[in-house]
Amino acid sequence: MQTRHLQTSSQTPDFYGIDDLFTPEHQLVRASVREFVQHEICPIIESCAQRGEFPAHLVPKFGQIGAFGPPLPTEYGGGGLDYIAYGLIAQEIERGDSGMRSTVSVQSSLVMWPIFAFGSEEQRLKYLPRLASGELLGCFGLTEPDHGSNPAAMQTSFIETRDHYILNGSKLWITNSPLADLAVVWAKNEQGRIKGLIVERGMEGFTTPEIHNKWSLRASITGELVFQDVKVPKENLLPGADGLRAPLACLDQARYGIAWGALGAAMDCYETARRYALERQQFGRPIAAFQLVQKKLAEMLTEITKAQLVCWRLGVLKNEGRATTAQISLAKRNNVEMALHIAREARQILGGMGITGEYPIMRHLMNLESVVTYEGTHDIHLLILGAEITGIPAFK
Ligand SMILES: Cc1cc2nc3c(=O)[nH]c(=O)nc-3n(C[C@H](O)[C@H](O)[C@H](O)COP(=O)(O)OP(=O)(O)OC[C@H]3O[C@@H](n4cnc5c(N)ncnc54)[C@H](O)[C@@H]3O)c2cc1C
Repeated sequence: MQTRHLQTSSQTPDFYGIDDLFTPEHQLVRASVREFVQHEICPIIESCAQRGEFPAHLVPKFGQIGAFGPPLPTEYGGGGLDYIAYGLIAQEIERGDSGMRSTVSVQSSLVMWPIFAFGSEEQRLKYLPRLASGELLGCFGLTEPDHGSNPAAMQTSFIETRDHYILNGSKLWITNSPLADLAVVWAKNEQGRIKGLIVERGMEGFTTPEIHNKWSLRASITGELVFQDVKVPKENLLPGADGLRAPLACLDQARYGIAWGALGAAMDCYETARRYALERQQFGRPIAAFQLVQKKLAEMLTEITKAQLVCWRLGVLKNEGRATTAQISLAKRNNVEMALHIAREARQILGGMGITGEYPIMRHLMNLESVVTYEGTHDIHLLILGAEITGIPAFK
């Protein structure tokens, strides 16, 4: 017996015919990234995660398939694509692994986008094509050891001398940092204004220690950024970035991609659980025949379908330049929680097998525990929505 969404297995699940809303270009981009993920990520990712190793050889390959900076103009190496195509790329990469999507999101939304949006023309031409190709890997330094949800209180700062800026401070939990060639760093100037600086590997006093022993995003590399009297050339200041609004605008870009990415992880868990439930026999029947298993699958499909519609509509608003921070918060918060819940339910459907590396579910589940925290925690996004609804910020 085949159901509608099973018949189109290369696009599953698509219970509401959401594919009709995508252009042929969207579908082509999705298909090519999906194929890449199946051939380049799926065969190695479990082993990388088990060993806690970042597959660095994929960085130039992400560049080759156009995963870095899809919405940026082609003259800077970007893909010239719209935000729905960008979302579908995030979805397909996270179907493979949230850590791989993290690398891509950071490079695209948190490194290339601020250089494009706030950088000088010289900075754009110097960095963007090499970031787009994957020749350079970047990272984004906002979070500090003592300032996570409240980045406005950051302590990293710089002073201006005649020839350069001198940067001091540290950043924690920085995706890609131990291997990054450059970091977009947010720091306060002598007037206490938050500014963006491009700090390059090799600058004296700049180190990037790795954070070990994570139980989550194990195939993604995470570290610190430490600045001890780092002399940053004046031409490395992002001229268009002034105040906290600049890094928050970057986070809007990245959170948008995360909303789509979480869908990919949820789809992979759902598909894995559905297939397993049809194959696994207990009490003389496939476990898919039991009502409690069907309930789990039905609820997963319902939540995925709702999240797909949220993403598609948000993509349309983003393409029109109308997507607000609060709308993006709603999508990030809803979709990551949805994916985490589906991963937990899927793991139960697989019984004991659900905790093994034979199936991707436990890896997705553990990865999503980071995704629900980074780029604004689940509760902080709730407070962003609360402030939007009531006009009263409840952060402090
Ligand atoms: C794997 C990983 C990768 C990351 N990558 C990056 C990166 O590349 N660049 C970067 O800059 N950062 C990165 N981060 C940092 C991430 O964005 C922060 O962890 C996140 O913003 C939360 O900050 P925190 O960990 O300091 O938690 P805290 O801010 O200390 O929050 C702890 C808890 O308190 C709650 N809380 C805090 N304030 C309030 C409040 N006002 N009201 C109610 N509850 C509140 C939070 O919701 C949370 O539950 C990464 C984190 C992880 C885990």
